Amino acid sequence: MATLVQKFGGTSVGDAAKIKRAAERVKRAKDEGHEVVTVVSAMGKSTDALVDLAYQLSDDPDKREMDMLMSTGEQVTISLMVMALKEMGIDAVSLTGWQAGIRTEGIHQNARITNIETENLERHLSDGKVVIVAGFQGMTPEGEITTLGRGGSDTTAVALAAALNAESCTIFTDVTGVYTSDPRVVPKARQLKSISYDEMLELANLGAGVLHPRAVEFAKNYSIPLIVRSSMVDQEGTVVEEEASMEQNLVVRGLAFESAVTKVTVEGMTSKVDTLSTLFTSLAESGINVDIIIQQVTEDQRVNVSFSVHTQALKDTLKVLEANRDALNYTKVRYVDQLAKVSIVGSGMISNPGVAADMFKVIAEQRVPVEMVSTSEIKVSAVIEEKNMVKVVEALHTFFELDERVGVKA
Ligand code: ADP
Ligand code: ASP
Ligand code: MG
Repeated sequence: MATLVQKFGGTSVGDAAKIKRAAERVKRAKDEGHEVVTVVSAMGKSTDALVDLAYQLSDDPDKREMDMLMSTGEQVTISLMVMALKEMGIDAVSLTGWQAGIRTEGIHQNARITNIETENLERHLSDGKVVIVAGFQGMTPEGEITTLGRGGSDTTAVALAAALNAESCTIFTDVTGVYTSDPRVVPKARQLKSISYDEMLELANLGAGVLHPRAVEFAKNYSIPLIVRSSMVDQEGTVVEEEASMEQNLVVRGLAFESAVTKVTVEGMTSKVDTLSTLFTSLAESGINVDIIIQQVTEDQRVNVSFSVHTQALKDTLKVLEANRDALNYTKVRYVDQLAKVSIVGSGMISNPGVAADMFKVIAEQRVPVEMVSTSEIKVSAVIEEKNMVKVVEALHTFFELDERVGVKA
């Protein structure tokens, strides 16, 4: 009997009626004769509400206690989902992340799953039960509750699919699939039939919130077909798989964007072999995630380094730089906030030179200055002012021929 793993996101279980609707989907899979494991998120925006409560009490809430708090959201949904299923005559059982055997590292609020002890899950499945698992949470070997980072229920689902050798993993959400860009921001975005793991991983890492990046990583590593589809309408979704069909041979498959980027520049450091290592080690040791890095050595052998961080990390970044003032021996620290990163992604770029040049041409035509750039084999990112983000994304979307055309189905 094939095992299917499904996941319903927050909007899809936002109220009792939606939970019932999701339960009908679960029932359908069970009635088709599958063993079913269903992962659910916290209802609606309830995780945001918990975070909000915490910040009403503390500017810097304890990370362990945040995990204790945030993991409660999913526990509400699992029990309600089982109640709905039982009303439909389906035998089901709810399990928290730790009851489902999800073991993680000890990094609170951003823990990685290390392994899944599947005995408990398998016992319930062989008893014929549908198992409803709380997403986004796990437990360390020491018995501490952890969470997997915002949006992490996707990762719970794919990791379970890998551990149970499931046939596929379906992510039910509030859009009909993966689009060429966020359809809420770019109305001309087009739904994709399929996308490769690598392209999806880049898009997810570059800000496309539709899938948690680690979920895509798991799916790729264990070759699990990942299907993204709507929980509201019965419509074919998007398959994330090894080789995506080359729709219209496009060079760029999708566009992602991210706001709240800040560029920090450290000026006039003495040029020594370990300057960069001292700077970035001190930031890393404080848990600051640095993205794009640009180094410039001046004629008088001084080093200027610019790097981008999430705006939320700015305060900590400035503190670390101040604490290391003597070791780094800089003359000045400057920063520019209210920036955004816009990225184009596509495997077709590997064999097509000039894609970055095209991107810069389009941005220049919009009269928008570029602050920073970074590239990989299958993506180009440009940092620009946040206020120009949507206009640039739309122009790029049109230029790279991604716009939905009336009457043409991708
Ligand atoms: P869930 O609660 O189901 O996990 P999310 O809000 O995390 O849902 O993810 C779905 C949202 O992702 C969509 O509502 C959409 O606004 C956003 N999104 C961003 N980029 C894309 C994209 N390329 N394709 C589809 N949706 C996207
Ligand atoms: N409830 C968590 C969040 O809102 C996890 C998830 O929905 O995937 O981030
Ligand atoms: Mg999500």
